[in-house]
Amino acid sequence: MSLFHKPDCLFCKIVKGEIPSKKVYEDDQCYAFYDIAPAAPVHFLVIPKTHIGSCGEITPENEALVGHIFSVITKITREMGITDFRVVSNCGPQAGQSVPHLHFHVLSGRDLTWPPG
Ligand code: AMP
Repeated sequence: MSLFHKPDCLFCKIVKGEIPSKKVYEDDQCYAFYDIAPAAPVHFLVIPKTHIGSCGEITPENEALVGHIFSVITKITREMGITDFRVVSNCGPQAGQSVPHLHFHVLSGRDLTWPPG
């Protein structure tokens, strides 16, 4: 599988090991690591290893990868013994996206209110 890493992308650098991270899970397609500023007792991110900018760039060509990420989220949460959790992906600055590399937040371990802010 060929991976595209965007120069100067923070999460591409994490995938390449150029910036340290606390790994949760890894396979040939995706990487999961703990969020540096946790918003819940359990807060990790799952990202594609290849660069995709956001949920706004999901296409028929990469949809299987996104589906794989969701099955990985199920696998990780099951292994952690977590049954109640939230998966969030912010798309665009107005929605709160601060890192322009597709990522899914997985949050758990406290009451999560709805709607989000
Ligand atoms: P978002 O604001 O939705 O784009 O989410 C980006 C997330 O990446 C935030 O929750 C940050 O705390 C997290 N983050 C930024 N830099 C790092 C890093 N070096 N290691 C782990 N998480 C990070």
